[in-house]
Amino acid sequence: MSQNEPAPSSRAYVHDRCEQPTVVSDTAFSTVASPLAGVEQTYCNACKDMFAVKEYRWADSGETLPDYYQRHAGGATAIDRFIASRHSIIAAFVVSVVVGIATAALFYFFLKEGLMAAVFLGIGAGFLSLIAMGTILISFLTPMVHRRVCKVSDPRHLV
Ligand SMILES: [Zn+2]
Repeated sequence: MSQNEPAPSSRAYVHDRCEQPTVVSDTAFSTVASPLAGVEQTYCNACKDMFAVKEYRWADSGETLPDYYQRHAGGATAIDRFIASRHSIIAAFVVSVVVGIATAALFYFFLKEGLMAAVFLGIGAGFLSLIAMGTILISFLTPMVHRRVCKVSDPRHLV
């Protein structure tokens, strides 16, 4: 499917146990459509609970989610999967906390700022770091990995 067309806004999958469809849209759709996101469980609207992805198939194609992930993620490396999963965001958060603490320590111990000013600067540096890394991950690295592995930058284009 051409990447120039807008991505579909939603897709439905069917849960094997109850045979009922659930429509996913927005972020939930992007996540569940990504063969690299490492999704293990997803929500069934009828059962009102999370179940393993192997219990679901796409309503339109009939393909199970694990088969779809396998088919589109053939050339993915561990690093590709890390970048496209939420683990990279968690890692960016941890790094930002460290950056914030290091910045506060630098201002307090070496530049002899007051404690409150140092804490404030540390929080600011941590936030900036998280925004910068989150933007790079979400807007550049993840689409790049999807384009290389799945041939589309937005996995919602995949069928
Ligand atoms: Zn169900």
